[in-house]
Amino acid sequence: MSEKMQAAVVSEPGAEFDLVERPVPEPDSEEVRIAVEACGICHSDVFVKEGTYPGVKYPRVPGHEVAGRIDAVGADVNMWEIDDRVGVGWHGGHCFDCDPCRRGDFQQCVDAKVTGLTYDGGYAEYTTVPAEAVAAVPEELNAVEAAPLLCAGVTTYNALRHTDARPGDLVAVQGIGGLGHLGIQYAHAAGFETVALSRSADKESLAKDLGADHFIDATAVDPAERLTELGGASVILATAPASDAISSVVSGLGADGSVVVVGIPGEPIEASGQDLVGARSSVEGWASGDARDSQDTLEFSALRSITPEVETYSLDEVTTAYSQMIENEARFRAVIEP
Ligand SMILES: [Zn+2]
Ligand SMILES: [Zn+2]
Repeated sequence: MSEKMQAAVVSEPGAEFDLVERPVPEPDSEEVRIAVEACGICHSDVFVKEGTYPGVKYPRVPGHEVAGRIDAVGADVNMWEIDDRVGVGWHGGHCFDCDPCRRGDFQQCVDAKVTGLTYDGGYAEYTTVPAEAVAAVPEELNAVEAAPLLCAGVTTYNALRHTDARPGDLVAVQGIGGLGHLGIQYAHAAGFETVALSRSADKESLAKDLGADHFIDATAVDPAERLTELGGASVILATAPASDAISSVVSGLGADGSVVVVGIPGEPIEASGQDLVGARSSVEGWASGDARDSQDTLEFSALRSITPEVETYSLDEVTTAYSQMIENEARFRAVIEP
């Protein structure tokens, strides 16, 4: 194919997006090419835009919430066919040979690829991705709905399902943004007594609509004290990348509770040893998931009618869409339709 496509490129760290015309890429033997129908803008795209992730080579096309249709298949790919509706998220491929891969722990692959960081991602009309990084999109979900589920969705869904929380347990979701508004829906659907924690009092009715049983306005009350009054949280899913907000809730954990950090703050998180020892509690992290985790997320979302709230933009509007995300003005996920 010698056709051309439009792509939004970051030419060097800190540069504005350039809209360029490029040849449509050819998949290698173990890749597929996706005709991109939608790509969510994630806060982690800052890594590419500002050059704060080690090893990213420029120019680079960001985008790791990619949904679309396969339109070319490498010679050695068996599991995907042309016209399959698919997506790819943060986990952009793995080596199959390192020790974590040999144990099936592809997320911890020592040579893991990241979509839109290691190779060009979804801020373009086409992208090529390793076959093992691809998830099937259920027919109930359109591409715009599916795209944010491939990072914001799988991150919150997969983090919650790997905790010890059981139906009826108190689970708090901190932050009601791109990740948090999905986390609340998953927590509710999983049968948890769901708490929404926010510094925006005006998000209470939205949080309740999403399935929260309780809303804590962290500007009006001490959120940790309120969680303790509710019985202490089994899990606090920290989605807002604000270390002071995360530090302020650690003492709201109940026995054996855990703060699970999924939004990455720039500053260290503080926790009192007294709190951790007293409640046998912990602060831990979780990173997205592999392609099958993404597909599980999509399937569960279709089953329980969980969809993201999105604002859509054309590729020409990438600068506006990105700044809406940065300024927290997007409601709640900005999605590009190339
Ligand atoms: Zn992301
Ligand atoms: Zn590996």
